[in-house]
Amino acid sequence: PTMAHSKALLVLENFIGGKFVPCSSYIDSYNPSTGDVYCRVPDSGKEEVEAAVKAAKDAFPVWSSKSPLERSQILNKLADLIEHDLEAFAQAESKDQGKTITFARTVDIPRAVHNFRFFASSILHHVTECTEMPTMGCVHYTSRAPVGVAGLISPWNLPLYLLTWKIAPAIACGNTVVAKPSEMTSVTAWMMCKLLEKAGVPPGVVNVVFGTGAKAGEALVCHPDVPLISFTGSTLTAQRITEKSAPHCKRLSLELGGKNPAIIFDDADLSQCIPTTVRSSFANQGEICLCTSRIFVQRGIYSEFLKRFVAEAKKWKTGNPSDPTIDVGALISKEHLEKVRNYVKRAQAEGARVLCGEGVDPLALPPVNQKGYFMLPTVIAEVKDESCCMQEEIFGPVTCVVAFDTEEEVIKRANGVKYGLAATVWSSNVGRVHRVAHRLQSGLVWTNCWLVRDLNLPFGGMKASGIGREGAKDSYEFFTEVKTITIKH
Ligand code: NAD
Repeated sequence: PTMAHSKALLVLENFIGGKFVPCSSYIDSYNPSTGDVYCRVPDSGKEEVEAAVKAAKDAFPVWSSKSPLERSQILNKLADLIEHDLEAFAQAESKDQGKTITFARTVDIPRAVHNFRFFASSILHHVTECTEMPTMGCVHYTSRAPVGVAGLISPWNLPLYLLTWKIAPAIACGNTVVAKPSEMTSVTAWMMCKLLEKAGVPPGVVNVVFGTGAKAGEALVCHPDVPLISFTGSTLTAQRITEKSAPHCKRLSLELGGKNPAIIFDDADLSQCIPTTVRSSFANQGEICLCTSRIFVQRGIYSEFLKRFVAEAKKWKTGNPSDPTIDVGALISKEHLEKVRNYVKRAQAEGARVLCGEGVDPLALPPVNQKGYFMLPTVIAEVKDESCCMQEEIFGPVTCVVAFDTEEEVIKRANGVKYGLAATVWSSNVGRVHRVAHRLQSGLVWTNCWLVRDLNLPFGGMKASGIGREGAKDSYEFFTEVKTITIKH
């Protein structure tokens, strides 16, 4: 690019040892709602990762010996600083990711702030175990210590939200970190780095290396001085990370994809269920690992449900993400949009019916968004359980609706995928709700609601949806090493 051109672009730098450092090469980053390149992201590799790991190792002795209270105060300060700039962060997240400004303002950035406050508080309340063995004259107790340099790798769908969900517990426990955000959504992580010094985070405690998974991500995963990796992303990448880290016996936390069912019994309160299920299908363009993509509806209410569900889905407005009245923004990339569209085409080719959205309804966009990666909320019916649309994670604004007859049958069908992240159950029968929740192979089950989270409790998936859990106690256990000490008196 010419000087004039490159000046107009936002250029990010790595954050290593408390300083912003330029990189020798860069990757283009797109604004998904216009299709324009607007930002350049460092294309880091081994060398940059090496420098960041060294800075993190150097910072570890001092940071790990601070009291939980000192670290807690710093986390709270950082939360305040992000909150103070909430609007700027929300604007940046919306522009970088394509999500609506409303979603960024009400979900992404408030949650990033909350992540720091939550772990600032929870780190003060852990207790370790102690047992007595009087016949042996012994007391046993456990102690927990931070592990060292944590490698944190996060995806593009909820950029700052998911990155801070890892940074906060890691540093609260006394580790130092090297984080690698998705190369497609790096801006808010870079903005956060600008606040670290003011918050009192010592240099080297939080290092951020930008770049691709293949180069920067893999260099981090393969680094011998990074004993633990917390990863959120796709199952395919997790398999690669597992393979690459195996020679070092690294501790892994893997939060992966989903193919989440909603099960709607004929006694469900449809006035609650329908708007919530539209939201669970299409929020953040369907780009949330917890989004519903298989809706099982009991036969007796199937036609009524479908009619009302499609009518509700059609109310969701797709368009310019910076318009606060818009419900559906742009998908992350041109390639991803193509991938999501192809699923709809394949479903049609298999004989399924597309009831609204892609290929059925017109999509009117303002002139500035003509080259953006937009797609209407799409509802597909009469899809076979074995179809790729019912088996694979689509990660876009597409949901399938099918009918079922019995409880036994629907549990089997809901469990009939390789994933097991989140399920929702709709029924007013308390007994049934508990019964079904217990039998679903799913790390999270929401009944008569969706996405209501208490961060104290475990979050994570079964089967191909992940290994390990995150939450107050689970993250504490992951980010610390436990030791059992026995004292004879
Ligand atoms: P992805 O796996 O392509 O990338 C995730 C991160 O891993 C990115 O930072 C990427 O650069 C990096 N990466 C890619 N290859 C790598 C490698 N070989 N070594 C190290 N790092 C590598 O996933 P994505 O497309 O960014 O995100 C979408 C996926 O994330 C979906 O499958 C979604 O379900 C999942 N997700 C899961 C959760 C959860 O909590 N379970 C939350 C959000 C998203």
